[in-house]
Amino acid sequence: MSSHNASHKNQPIERRQFDTLIIGAGGGGLRASLQLAEADLSVAVVSKVFPTRSHTVAAQGGMNAALANVLPDNWHWHMFDTVKGSDYLGDQDAIEYMCRAAPKAVYELEHFGVPFSRLDNGKIYQRAFGGQSQDFGGDQAARTCAAADRTGHAILHSLYQQNIRAKTHFFDEYFAVDLLKDDEGHVLGAVIFNIHDGQIVVIEAKTTLLATGGAGQLYKTTTNALINTGDGLGMAMRAGIPLQDMEFFQFHPTGIAGRGMLITEGARGEGGYLVNGDGERLMERYAPKSKDLASRDVVSRAIAVEVREGRGCGPNKDHVMLKLDHLGEEVIQKRLPGIRQTCITFLGIDPAEAPIPVYPTAHYTMGGIPTNRYGQVVVPVKDTPEEPVQGLYAAGECACVSVHGANRLGGNSLLDILVFGRAAANHIIDYLKENKYHRVIDEKIINKVVENVKRYDLNGKQSNNPSAVPIEKVATLRKELKQVMEDHCSVFRNEEILKEGVEKVEQLVQRMKNVKIDDQSFTFNTAKVEAFELENLMACALATMHCAYARKESRGAHSRTDFTERDDKSWMRHSLYSYENGLDYKPVRTKPMSVESFPPKPRVY
Ligand SMILES: Cc1cc2nc3c(=O)[nH]c(=O)nc-3n(C[C@H](O)[C@H](O)[C@H](O)COP(=O)(O)OP(=O)(O)OC[C@H]3O[C@@H](n4cnc5c(N)ncnc54)[C@H](O)[C@@H]3O)c2cc1C
Repeated sequence: MSSHNASHKNQPIERRQFDTLIIGAGGGGLRASLQLAEADLSVAVVSKVFPTRSHTVAAQGGMNAALANVLPDNWHWHMFDTVKGSDYLGDQDAIEYMCRAAPKAVYELEHFGVPFSRLDNGKIYQRAFGGQSQDFGGDQAARTCAAADRTGHAILHSLYQQNIRAKTHFFDEYFAVDLLKDDEGHVLGAVIFNIHDGQIVVIEAKTTLLATGGAGQLYKTTTNALINTGDGLGMAMRAGIPLQDMEFFQFHPTGIAGRGMLITEGARGEGGYLVNGDGERLMERYAPKSKDLASRDVVSRAIAVEVREGRGCGPNKDHVMLKLDHLGEEVIQKRLPGIRQTCITFLGIDPAEAPIPVYPTAHYTMGGIPTNRYGQVVVPVKDTPEEPVQGLYAAGECACVSVHGANRLGGNSLLDILVFGRAAANHIIDYLKENKYHRVIDEKIINKVVENVKRYDLNGKQSNNPSAVPIEKVATLRKELKQVMEDHCSVFRNEEILKEGVEKVEQLVQRMKNVKIDDQSFTFNTAKVEAFELENLMACALATMHCAYARKESRGAHSRTDFTERDDKSWMRHSLYSYENGLDYKPVRTKPMSVESFPPKPRVY
């Protein structure tokens, strides 16, 4: 090993140039790369895992579009539901854009080869999902297009194959550490390393798109993959870009209790419902009209209240039950085969025969890197709330456009990643027509980032600890962080819990500086990867806690027991948090592109 290390140290750093660098090979990244590769641009996609292992592959229930294949529907109702679902924090221009683009996005996927489930008449099957209505708050709609309960799998594999055909250049199993940004604020690429052998590569790009997905690993119990560590959000923060609306973290009502695997909302869309310890169908009390298909924040709170008030199930009364057995084996096998298998494998329960124990579980990062509807990353400059950062784009779960506001509707994320992945690519294509050449990068900027990438390489060896600072371990800090987030920033929050949470996260951020890693090899050094990931999670946690502590109202997923009402007068605004400026705010874009604005109303389901 030591000779390998020695030779590695002398290895020259590789340099590559591309028109566009995309960090992330989930649905957002691959939709963008396909558009760019088809426009004959040179595009590199970097992914820390093999592309088809990105979290998009795990998406179950489906993708929303007002196709009206099952029940009457149109994009304007979809827009209304999304604005209402967002608890009026979503930007209405972006929401209009997304809902209008939705049918096209679905048909494009169909042409890329996604095997959507079908109705008997051959049209794409659509199921009911939470928060969907007809006619501005009328009856339930059925808007979610699905490939059984493996929709993300079908989408991601189709997009990957299309990219191979279009000759996208992939850097598989490379870890992106930081962006390259010059003194004038242009982003010029990033520095990455090969997880396989530690080789550092500097990628110079005229445009860079962050598509790194969410940060669900912030929490102890989560539906998210281990790779969802908010890396792009950390990179943005370190490049001086604030994160937006991080206090809004979605808890999915039906994670398998205590373990976190997701049971899709599609299970309730197919007719499943929740029961408490008394055998009562609990949602009838909380959402008389929509019942189990109220939006996720509403259902999650209902379950948490039932458990808190002693009406939970099981010996510890710490969960509720999701009942599907009345649907019959045939429906379950046809529409929900994946979750049936999950339950049999992890619980030994067949949902065709017995109910599933569930509890709200961390699921989706509503906040993220602020962008406009063209995917450009935007920051406040002097008196203007939004100015684009030159050369930098973001799309997918890492971005905050913001179409989900304070609460995302199920089925709207697959839609978001595809619509805005494509929109960002289209904007990049135009930008590159005007900006044909690579900007020259000062070597000092590159060297600084490269040194940063190397900083864990020898730090375990140097640790005879002269300053007597205690050495910190990644695994310990990560465990503590996830517990702090679970205890201090979950479904219900209040002043005291949040204040303590802020202090605890601040302490963890300080302790992170003393991390040393034992593994000093360059071959599949997962300890190093985990250290970088934890730094990114710390950045996300800091932003989340500060924004949550400051927001003194209840809106969407941010529910405070000490400020139980939504306060549109003081708080209908987006939070921003950066290392340099701490907290800041900017207005919600309430004006849509072409239709009239939906003014805030009480949100009942
Ligand atoms: C279990 C589950 C089920 C879901 N079901 C649905 C559903 O039915 N409908 C719906 O609309 N939404 C659903 N969602 C949400 C939706 O799937 C995600 O929000 C969406 O797929 C995210 O896509 P993305 O392209 O932004 O990122 P991801 O698919 O998460 O991909 C992120 C990419 O970034 C790469 N990456 C990250 N950091 C780095 C780094 N430092 N260096 C290099 N590469 C990096 C990763 O390798 C990966 O390729 C679900 C989510 C989960 C967790």
